[in-house]
Amino acid sequence: MIKSLLLLLLSACLVCGQTKISPEREAAIKADLVGRIDRMAKQSQVMVDSVFSFAELGFQEFETSKYLTAILEKEGFKIERGIAGIPTAWMATWGSGKPVIALGSDIDCIPQASQKPGVAYRVPMLDGAPGHGEGHNSGMPMNIVAALAVKEIMEREKLPGTIKLWPGVGEEQLGTKAYYVRAGVFKDVDAVLFAHVSSDFNVSAGPGGQNGMVSVEYQFKGESAHAAGAPWRGRSALDAVELMNVGWNFRREHLRLAQRSHYVITNGGDQPNVVPQNASVWYFFREADYEHVMDLWKIGDQMAQGAALMTNTTFTSRVLGTAWAGHFSQPIAEAMHANIKKVGYPAWSETDKNFAVALQKELKVPVTGLNDQITELRLPAARLPGDREIGPTGGGSDDIGDISWNVPTVTLRYPANIQAGPGHSWANAIAMATPIAHQGVVAGAKAQAMTLLDLITKPELVTAAWDYFKNVQTKDTKYQTFLRPDDQPALWLNKKIMDEYRPRMKETYYNPDKFGTYLEQLGISYPTVRK
Ligand SMILES: [Zn+2]
Repeated sequence: MIKSLLLLLLSACLVCGQTKISPEREAAIKADLVGRIDRMAKQSQVMVDSVFSFAELGFQEFETSKYLTAILEKEGFKIERGIAGIPTAWMATWGSGKPVIALGSDIDCIPQASQKPGVAYRVPMLDGAPGHGEGHNSGMPMNIVAALAVKEIMEREKLPGTIKLWPGVGEEQLGTKAYYVRAGVFKDVDAVLFAHVSSDFNVSAGPGGQNGMVSVEYQFKGESAHAAGAPWRGRSALDAVELMNVGWNFRREHLRLAQRSHYVITNGGDQPNVVPQNASVWYFFREADYEHVMDLWKIGDQMAQGAALMTNTTFTSRVLGTAWAGHFSQPIAEAMHANIKKVGYPAWSETDKNFAVALQKELKVPVTGLNDQITELRLPAARLPGDREIGPTGGGSDDIGDISWNVPTVTLRYPANIQAGPGHSWANAIAMATPIAHQGVVAGAKAQAMTLLDLITKPELVTAAWDYFKNVQTKDTKYQTFLRPDDQPALWLNKKIMDEYRPRMKETYYNPDKFGTYLEQLGISYPTVRK
C-alpha cells in the first residue's frame, strides 16, 4: 500500500516535472514573498484605484483590460487577447512547463452603482452611472501582485512552471466562463486559483452553496396598430411579456425552495399609442444543480408558449448567461486555508473601523466593525434527511462553477470590503478605493502567492487535487454545459449604457502621476461620515 503510494507520488513527480523544496526552505520563501508583497503595496493601490475609476459593465471592460494587460506585458507575460471570441477577455502567460496554474478574478461592475469612495452614505460620483458595487476592481490587481511576487521567486530559484492570469468578463451576466471552457482555454491547466472580494478571509471546499443558473431573454413579436384608432388590428408583444410574468409568478409558489428566479423587461415597446410589435423579458433561472436548472428553463419556455398563445404572438429566445453551481477542491482549499492562517487579517486602523461602523449604522445592519478573526475552513455541509426533497435553499451564482467542474479550482475570499451592503449595490462600492480595499488586497495577495508557490513546489498537492476531482467531485456528477451549440457570448450587453456615461466618466479616471490615491484626487477626506 505504502509502496504503491510512493510509486504513485514518484511517477506524478516525473510526469509533472515539478520541483520539491524542504519545509525550512518553503518557510523562508514564504516569508520572502510576504516582504515582497508588502513592498508592492503602492503598485497594488494604484491598480485597485485605477480599475475602480474605470467602472466598466460586463463585456465593455475595454479600459480595464487594456490597462491590466499592459502591466502584465511589461512584466514579461505573453498576452492572448480576445479569447473565446470575447473582445475584452484575455489570457496572460509566463513561464514554461508544468504545473500550469491559472489565477482568475472578475473585472466588471454594477449598473447605477456609481458612488464616491470613502463616504459612508449615498453620494454618486455620476448619477445613473455604473460603479464597482461588488468590488470587482480589486481581484485582478490582487492576482497580479501575487503572480509577480511568485514569478520573481521562480526566476531566482529556477523553478519550472507556468503562471496564467485571466479575467472574469461579464460575470454579473454569468456571461463568459462557460464559453472559456467551451473554447478549451483551461485544457492544459493543472489548477485554478480564483479570487473574489469579501469582508471575510476564507476559502471553502466542496459544494460552494451557490445555485446553478441559466439566463434567457424571451423576445415576443406581435403586430403594431394605432392603439386608439384601430386597436383590434394590433397584437401586443408587451401583453405577452406581462402574461408570461403573471404565469411565472403564480407558478413560483409551487417551485422548490432552492429556486431563485427574477426578470427585467428589456423592451416594453416604444410609446403608448403604438401597439408594441416587439417586446422582450430577460429571466434568470437559478436552481441547485444542472437537472433542476433545466427543469426551470423548461417551465419558462412553457410560460412563453402560453403567453404567445393567449396573445396570438410568436416568440424566440436566446441564452445570455449560464453558470454551474461551484464545487471547490478540498486539497487546494486546505493548503490555501493554512496560508490564510499564516497571513491573518490586515491590522485595521481606528479610522478604518470607524468608517465600517458608520456604514453599518447608515444601512441599519448589525454593527460588527471589520472582521479580524480567521474562521475554520468551510467543509462540505452534511446533508440533512429530506434534503433531497426540499433541496438546498441556495442564493446567487458565479460562473466560476463551470471552470470548477473542469479543473481543480478554489475561490479565495479576501477581506477588502465591509460587511454591510446588500450586494450589487452602491453600498458595496464605498470601501473599494479606500485603505480597507488596499490592505485587504495585499493580505489576499499573500495567501494567493503562497498557495501558488505550494502548487508549483509540491507535486503531491496537484496530484491530490486531481485525485479529489476524479474520484470525489466528478464521481457521480459529470459536467455538461448549459450552452447550446449555436449560443454565442452576449457581447452587445451594456454597450449603450457605457456609450452614454463613458465620456463623462473619463474625466474622473484616476491619475496616479498626479495624486497619491484616488481619494486624494477626488478631494475626499477619509472617512467622511454623517455628523
Ligand atoms: Zn462577484
